[in-house]
Amino acid sequence: MQKRPTQIDSTTTERYIVHVFTRSSKPTAPSTTGQAFLEAAGSVVNDIERYYSTLPSRPVLPSISPGYLQKLLPSAPPTHGEAWSDIERDIERAIMPGITHWQSPKYMAFFAASSTYPGILGEMWSAALTSANFNWICSPAVTELETIVLDWLAHILALPDIFLSKGEGGGVIQGSASEAVVTVMVAARERYIRRQLERRGVTDPDEVEDQSCELRGKLVAIASAEAHSSTKKGAIIAGTRFRSIPVHRSDGYALTGEQVRAKIEELQAKGLHPYYLGVTLGTTNTCAVDDFESVTEVAKDYPDIWIHCDAAYAGSALVLPEYQHLSKQMTFVDSFDMNMHKWLLTNFDASCLYVRKRKDLTDALSITPTYLKNQFTDSGLVTDYRDWQIPLGRRFRSLKIWFVLRTWGVEGLKQHIRHHLKLADLFAGLVESRSDIFRLLTPPKFALTVLTVKPRNSKQPELAKVDAGDPRPDQDQQIPIEPETDDEELKKANDITKEVYTRLDETKEFFLTASVIGGVYAIRVVSSNPLAEEKYTIVTGASVGLGRHIAKAYAAAGSSVACVARREPDLKSLVEEIKSAGGHAVAIVADVAERGAPKRIVSQTESELGPVDILCNNAAISRIGPITLEDENMDIWWRVHEVNVRAPVALIRAVLPSMMERKTGTVITISSGVASMALPVMTAYASSKAAISKFHELLTIELKGTGILSFSATPGLVQTELGKPEDALNKAAMDHPLLKAFMGSVSGMKNQQPEVLADVLVAMSADERFKALDGKFISADRDVEPVVKEAEKEGGGRVGKENLYTITIPQL
Ligand code: PLP
Repeated sequence: MQKRPTQIDSTTTERYIVHVFTRSSKPTAPSTTGQAFLEAAGSVVNDIERYYSTLPSRPVLPSISPGYLQKLLPSAPPTHGEAWSDIERDIERAIMPGITHWQSPKYMAFFAASSTYPGILGEMWSAALTSANFNWICSPAVTELETIVLDWLAHILALPDIFLSKGEGGGVIQGSASEAVVTVMVAARERYIRRQLERRGVTDPDEVEDQSCELRGKLVAIASAEAHSSTKKGAIIAGTRFRSIPVHRSDGYALTGEQVRAKIEELQAKGLHPYYLGVTLGTTNTCAVDDFESVTEVAKDYPDIWIHCDAAYAGSALVLPEYQHLSKQMTFVDSFDMNMHKWLLTNFDASCLYVRKRKDLTDALSITPTYLKNQFTDSGLVTDYRDWQIPLGRRFRSLKIWFVLRTWGVEGLKQHIRHHLKLADLFAGLVESRSDIFRLLTPPKFALTVLTVKPRNSKQPELAKVDAGDPRPDQDQQIPIEPETDDEELKKANDITKEVYTRLDETKEFFLTASVIGGVYAIRVVSSNPLAEEKYTIVTGASVGLGRHIAKAYAAAGSSVACVARREPDLKSLVEEIKSAGGHAVAIVADVAERGAPKRIVSQTESELGPVDILCNNAAISRIGPITLEDENMDIWWRVHEVNVRAPVALIRAVLPSMMERKTGTVITISSGVASMALPVMTAYASSKAAISKFHELLTIELKGTGILSFSATPGLVQTELGKPEDALNKAAMDHPLLKAFMGSVSGMKNQQPEVLADVLVAMSADERFKALDGKFISADRDVEPVVKEAEKEGGGRVGKENLYTITIPQL
């Protein structure tokens, strides 16, 4: 190889480069040019968008075993750099199988971790401008934007002015609520010790050190037993003791001033020094809110104790005026922290910590060696956030907060939180409507519902009610108090709840968390995921028969239903029935076969509910009569096709544009086994049903890759209004000998239960596994489970290979 010149002029450089590229078969350096970045980033952004748009259809939980990644990756790093296209491929191959999809709408565990496109863009810019940002001079914009957006946020959350930067307080972004706790605990500890020593008049440095160390050993942090574990961990890190205060279900798991006072007195009597009190706005288990009013009264008597309010998750709800009486109560705390990365649309990490007196933080955490000194710091005119936190370096996190606040605006944030609260109320309503099975441990709070399962033949008496201290004063909510259960009853309830939870967990369809709260095993359901949304379903022919059951089944499964039919009184009673069972439905009076009706039905659904996720075409008519019918009866024959074919197709066409845009949706039309049978004198019905089933099969091919599923389904024999003779043609034809003969041949067939069929339809729209049957003509009256299992096999199993569940012509 040519010796590398010491002085490189342009000609030698060229020669040198040519030499490297001609001699070496592998690139020696990775391609990191701007052009390569443009290509790679473009591809990543595309992949991320595709990931988000396919999230609802991915299983939320991974199906791998511990150590799976070791088997997929080489045991050593590559010797030579790899091309981005090779690296990128491994995201789907190696990483995705081990990802729990926190952004999936099926993720309802712990608390949400928001991710939004503006949040991601903020992270991209933050990465691009990477710097350590410990002092103002490191990048003045980083510090100044942080101060500005945290002041904005304080206004949005209606926090008292004491937390604004214009006074003695201010906000700082921390990595997590736990980090915020440790940070303020250290400040609390130092402030407490300083004040004690000042009171004792100790000034000699050696004496200060001795007495400080002695006092530290007696310091105790206190918080409710329902406070987050970070309080105990913080106390361990701060080198102090921790004591928790038991709270009770009868108080809604809230900590009261009385309990705080009793604990302080108890500790002081033992010669210990409570120096830190943690209160919570939205505990992890049940989102309980401590009784700030009574704690405020007690706090007045103990001004040396630092009070920190942990509002990690529920603090986001303070954007709503109906919760802002809580913000106003925050005048008694020394610090307040909430995570925008949980519920306020900002990507991890963005924990917003406010302190009443920033000097308390800087007194405890400021150490300035010579190399950190600069004229701006010395002038005292700038903020150096390194003195407000434990690490030195810090990321540019305010950028994503800025992007999020500007993208949504205050009104947008309010709508976002309200949407999730509404979802939780809807879910809790459904749970309550099955009080024979479930029990709410607490009413939904901050989009968290906590429930238990009732044991069969439970001896538990009716639950007494007590005030749960709902944070919204206008909500007169109550929670059931724990009844006097003997241990045996409680154990039974715990066992069954645990079993239900375990089974749910095993299906990996949803990700929920369970917890033990005051000895009660409970399941937590969190509805505050950015992608969590209600499903909106249209059911036609909903007023009676099978359609009525279908509408009720979708509502019971949590979807809001637009019930469509011609008969208004029946529809109204259906909507009432759904509402009284805790569901949500609207009535749309329409004849689906009327020109213009499908479009009107869809736009009315969109304006009264939202974009249609599921369309269930159930409306149909049947006419029985020989094909040698009178001319005027030909119109009736044709009307059957208008109702059974043209109307569902028109409805599908009306819902498709929005479904295609959102890359999700299910369209189902109820067909009939008659489509494939040789049933005489039913030519209108049979040919219309054959046509619509074929239509669905072909629609699937056209919609491939759009995320929209299309099925037709036969309900088997159901007693409905459909078969009832409605007019002369039907009545006369009922006695047709060919029909009678056919009916005789199927007389042994069992009638199907409409409730079961309706549940199968719901499963077809909700269970991911039905993707394997996309386009099929499904017999909802048979056991569909083995069919799904077969179709899920390689190549669709027998279902795929033999083209089962389609209208085909077997030939010689
Ligand atoms: N505080 C409360 C009330 C929480 O619910 C949680 C987490 O869920 C935390 C603190 C800890 O949050 P972080 O992960 O930001 O430390």
